[in-house]
Amino acid sequence: MAESQTSTETDWVSRFADDVIAESERRAPGKPVVVASGLSPSGPIHLGNLREVMTPHLVADEIRRRGHTVRHLISWDDYDRYRKVPNGVPGVDSTWAEHIGKPLTSVPAPAGSAHPNWAEHFKAAMTEALDELGVEYDGISQTEQYTAGTYREQILHAMKHRADIDAVLDRYRTKKDPAAAQGKGGGKKPQQQKKVDEAELEAAEGSGAADEDDGSGNSAGYFPYKPYCGNCEKDLTVVTSYDDDTTELNYTCSACGFAETVRLSEFNRGKLVWKVDWPMRWAYEGVIFEPSGVDHSSPGSSFVVGGQIVREVFDGVQPIGPMYAFVGISGMAKMSSSKGGVPTPADALKIMEAPLLRWLYARRKPNQSFKIAFDQEIQRLYDEWDSLGRKVADGTVLPADAAAYSRAVRTAAGELPSTPRPLPYRTLASVADITAGAEDQTLRILGELDPANPLTSLDEARPRLDRAENWITTQVPAEARTIVRDEPDTELLGSLDDQGRESLRLLLEGLDTHWSLDGLTTLVYGVPKVLAGLEPDAKPTPELKAAQRSFFALLYRLLVSRDTGPRLPTLLLAVGADRVRRLLGA
Ligand SMILES: [Zn+2]
Repeated sequence: MAESQTSTETDWVSRFADDVIAESERRAPGKPVVVASGLSPSGPIHLGNLREVMTPHLVADEIRRRGHTVRHLISWDDYDRYRKVPNGVPGVDSTWAEHIGKPLTSVPAPAGSAHPNWAEHFKAAMTEALDELGVEYDGISQTEQYTAGTYREQILHAMKHRADIDAVLDRYRTKKDPAAAQGKGGGKKPQQQKKVDEAELEAAEGSGAADEDDGSGNSAGYFPYKPYCGNCEKDLTVVTSYDDDTTELNYTCSACGFAETVRLSEFNRGKLVWKVDWPMRWAYEGVIFEPSGVDHSSPGSSFVVGGQIVREVFDGVQPIGPMYAFVGISGMAKMSSSKGGVPTPADALKIMEAPLLRWLYARRKPNQSFKIAFDQEIQRLYDEWDSLGRKVADGTVLPADAAAYSRAVRTAAGELPSTPRPLPYRTLASVADITAGAEDQTLRILGELDPANPLTSLDEARPRLDRAENWITTQVPAEARTIVRDEPDTELLGSLDDQGRESLRLLLEGLDTHWSLDGLTTLVYGVPKVLAGLEPDAKPTPELKAAQRSFFALLYRLLVSRDTGPRLPTLLLAVGADRVRRLLGA
């Protein structure tokens, strides 16, 4: 299991909750506890970035369970510049490149979208996933904040203290780190890990605030603020002068040549550069806890620099900010269609239930990396999850595992939706594989799994059944799908020796009396024992195991024309007794 067995009363979530409550009471007694996440809707939001939300969510939820009021802010960094046209997003072509440099909320949504702009389009999918995951939060649009003038005082303050900011930034400019230019938002690969796949690169590029410049390199001086152009809306502007007394600012646009004089005391079309914007918001919102991607531990990273800027410029305090490790994806099928090849939280929720996905985050400390399985591994993961559920039910669970389980299945607001009859995922997947989703057939097979207590409606097996079906149809490659033979393999049947024929006879003879998942399990393991003259409950020997393996391979060849397939008892139930008899030559 994930948590160490030495952990007794508590887990990483409660330890952070202790610290965060104590710090909040010290800094802002009697006020709601504030935790924060930041997400950039610059394209499909990568599943890896979910850790940016889940880490503070789990801590916030623990704090709520203890009766405190918590605000979990999700800052939508939708006033960031549009940096690149992501590949493979339907309804988007190369003409979107003309919008590069505009705020994400000023870029048109993909063609056919129901949403008013680019940022809203990609926010919507994430919002839906967060709702399903039971994440309670206050969403804050940075476009709304900036364009409403909410941060006016902070902007004027930053401009006034631009020399101080420049001095902080300058401490790091000589030891500039490649990670330093990145925004937060996570999903970025730690540098020491070498293997980077395409999806992870997408995650890095699509995440966090833009890798915008920090305002330096301007011959007219250092300015931590950048206007979006009044003519072309792009941020390719250069501030040419600023007057502290009048707040008069001059800029020119290097994209279209437009120049303008504005007063920052009333101007709302621009933003602070990322490394100043982030600490400004810590101070403005009183953020006590905000994690960030592991790359931010490097010197010159925005978290480190932000810690100095918030203290020296905004008279604030840096949040408790654990660095979280990368979350990888294993085996995601290359997606040709809707998501531009980027696995999103919505994709994960199509193949697994929300509690399982929550559990993956709850059971690992933020500094531990893990992978979310889209491949065969998801079946083992579900087995582990079900086994944990049984331990919780019978009271044999370890405390830290119990904590992770509890965080997965419920929030302070209540239980998450669950499947009334949680049949094994691998069984559901096999059934879905074999029946291709035919409901009557599925109900027949699932009803026969446990004849003493038969499933009477597919709804009892939902939503887990739907997730397993989705996994089979979207993630399992065609060549790995199971195709049951229509006609017996007469050539193979005719080539069998006495032993082979006798094994099939024994199997067919026992079908009627063993027609359940447990019964067929006993039967298929028992036939080789009987052939070897052993008792049905005999302990397996190496010879017996070899005999079982070759018997199973024979059955697979005869039923599905391959050497392997879904677990045999499930396969036999799925194929149905009549067809089994026909294919096995009875
Ligand atoms: Zn312009």
